[in-house]
Amino acid sequence: MRLRNLLVAVTAATIVVAITGCSSPGIHSGAGSLGAAPQLPSAGSGSGAGSGSAQLGQDDGYIPTGETVALTDDVPAVTRLDPRLLEALDRAATAAADRDVTFTLTDGWRSERYQQTLFDDAVQKYGSEEEASKWVKRGDESKHVRGEAVDIATADAMDWLTRFGGEYGLCQVYANEAWHFELTADSDGVCPAQLPDGTAG
Ligand SMILES: [Zn+2]
Repeated sequence: MRLRNLLVAVTAATIVVAITGCSSPGIHSGAGSLGAAPQLPSAGSGSGAGSGSAQLGQDDGYIPTGETVALTDDVPAVTRLDPRLLEALDRAATAAADRDVTFTLTDGWRSERYQQTLFDDAVQKYGSEEEASKWVKRGDESKHVRGEAVDIATADAMDWLTRFGGEYGLCQVYANEAWHFELTADSDGVCPAQLPDGTAG
């Protein structure tokens, strides 16, 4: 009886080792990349609002709420950015890494229809186009659609960029959007005065 239990235990342990041994490389190769998760968990906003956001995908530059992408990720939100902006971000990120600050993006390039969806959603949220336009631009007006703007994920990175971004050409453009940066510094690395919100520009 005892021996049998022991055999069962040994056999089970062997199986566990075998499973772990062969599956872990597969698990690791899929980790850390947004590219492996193209499913669209946007059902929450897809019901009722009629905005069509449920059909937005990676090709629109869509990044699901709560997720971020790295500057090195091979997704349209990053790869369709203006090359000058991406290069400036890379250089700034290298410098910031010395202070253990990592740059990740909640938004980069967006398709025009993605931008329009955001605007339509904002009109619902804020009650009027005028109020919505203080936060979100229409489809063809956004610097995101032109690949000329990024939204930075973490407070640490925003803080670093606010202090040192000008050296790399990167500036916070709107006073009400601490996360939104564009390549607007002059040749001396000085950022223009911030606009109060999106309606001003
Ligand atoms: Zn933005």
